[in-house]
Amino acid sequence: MAYVRWTRYLLPTWKEEPAEAEIPSHRLMLRAGLIRRVASGIYEFLPFGYRALRKVERIVREEMDAIGALEMKLPVLQPEELWRRTGRWEDFGPEMFKLTDRKGQGFALGPTHEEIITELAAREIRSWRDMPLTLYQIGEKYRDEIRPRFGVMRAREFLMKDAYSFHGSWDSLEETYRDMYTAYSRTFTRCGLVFVAVEAPTGVMGGDVSHEFMAVADTGEDEIALCSACGYAANRQVAHTEPPDPPPGEERPLELVATPGVRTVEELVEFLGVSPAQIVKTFLYVGRDGALAVLVRGDQELEETKLLQAAGDPTLRRVDDPGEAERISGAPFGFLGPIGLGIPVWADESVRDIPAAVVGGNREGYHYVGARAGRDFRVDRYLDIHRAREGDPCGRCGSPLRIRRGIEVGQIFQLGTKYSEALGATFLDRDGEERPIIMGCYGIGVSRILGAVIEQHHDEAGIIWPLEIAPFQVVIAVLRPDVPEQMELAERLASALDRAGLEVLLDDRDRSPGEKFHDAKLIGIPVLLVVGPRALQRGEVEAERRRDGAKASFPAAEDAVVRGVRELLRAELI
Ligand code: ATP
Ligand code: MG
Repeated sequence: MAYVRWTRYLLPTWKEEPAEAEIPSHRLMLRAGLIRRVASGIYEFLPFGYRALRKVERIVREEMDAIGALEMKLPVLQPEELWRRTGRWEDFGPEMFKLTDRKGQGFALGPTHEEIITELAAREIRSWRDMPLTLYQIGEKYRDEIRPRFGVMRAREFLMKDAYSFHGSWDSLEETYRDMYTAYSRTFTRCGLVFVAVEAPTGVMGGDVSHEFMAVADTGEDEIALCSACGYAANRQVAHTEPPDPPPGEERPLELVATPGVRTVEELVEFLGVSPAQIVKTFLYVGRDGALAVLVRGDQELEETKLLQAAGDPTLRRVDDPGEAERISGAPFGFLGPIGLGIPVWADESVRDIPAAVVGGNREGYHYVGARAGRDFRVDRYLDIHRAREGDPCGRCGSPLRIRRGIEVGQIFQLGTKYSEALGATFLDRDGEERPIIMGCYGIGVSRILGAVIEQHHDEAGIIWPLEIAPFQVVIAVLRPDVPEQMELAERLASALDRAGLEVLLDDRDRSPGEKFHDAKLIGIPVLLVVGPRALQRGEVEAERRRDGAKASFPAAEDAVVRGVRELLRAELI
């Protein structure tokens, strides 16, 4: 007897809406008894939720195995010394859980495993013959997120599949990267997700080329820019758009004007009667190489990810404390501008051609008007650092971009030699020359997928599981479990379905039929079978498909029910 009896199972459902949950998937995961919260961002998976999680895990494993990746297991506890060697003990910052053992040695709870695996590669990979090699694991990751939320979506302990590949050439890396891209697409499709792969920022991982896989959902924390004309798709934080046209106007001489108490773009527009596009905002940053002034046009927003990506310095941060800003720049906060400033200046492309710009005067209560980049102030580097907006011209083809929301369920990176160089992972190439190993890394948020799936597959009554990850395929509601004939028939049908390879949950609880139907909808099992008086009197078992409410009835015989259920499920696959 391998089917599950609800009365012998731990599947507590809630009637009430949990107040702490802000989005449907989080609410439903609590109400349908998948997860329970232990502390902020830390969850238990109850048996029902764990069943679904294991199914996602299985799909991920099958698709990794299919491209020849080798499963293994790496430790969660990782020595500080290793993270110091790549500089990420600092770069990862407060997101890393750090602890000390009894001897005073520092450790991290692995937020990711590049350091550990690269050291393994340094030890085990000797020559070009040992590669390509792809290793992966499915295990817990720990990140002390600033804002854990949405249940398992942004947790502090979560399940990730992480893979790492090792290569003797860039061509080989690109080949594995393409295989991964395909394996990821297959994985998310099998999980029932509607997703897009987008160009992505590389952040603290490093490297140049990266894609994120975004499950499309209005409640997603990420934004994606899409061009329906040329197919360009990018995370909004790195989406390249053509710079806007320069504002109309003529060049004129530079002039310092008194603007007492006028600091913001809105106030300047009002006070000077100019348009926001004529104003240049100056931001102050500090990083490894010291201070940096960053210029963006007044009608644009600074996209910090693009700036960080271009700087390649994860320690770069905006200085927004007035005291600190004044100490670094020598200019009063709120009146900072690029003219005569003794620090490097980077500017968004849109600043280049403003004929007569308004910039901070570097003097309390003053701005310059008529400022011209190149003539009145030096720009060391022009780059695309403005935030992409709905309707902006696509950086590839010029058609208007759309902005949508998404949930990042996976990300793949071409890392190159960042880690192998830092940790001395080299190999002997065909010519007997020693070179750093070229690497890629590839993550999937296994537990986040569950949230994303429910976010995309639910209605007001509850979850609607895609077939491949449904914890059970069939739920049998016995309307009167105290009537022996009903129980007996239900058990016979459950056994028959079980023998036919279907996973069955038998709702034998002492609850009203109404509650059972309600809960069946809530927990979202693809097919509901009803065993009640009608099944006994008329010899008919009623069935209902969760997805579309399609109803059917079958003769109350084992083979007829198995056939009928299979029929209903078949339509699920189409
Ligand atoms: P995010 O931008 O959402 O914080 P990330 O880019 O930092 O994620 P990666 O380092 O790319 O995450 O990790 C690989 C995958 O792990 C992500 O694509 C995501 O699906 C998942 N993941 C990352 N952080 C969390 C988290 N706090 N809770 C659950 N899943 C997560
Ligand atoms: Mg990521």
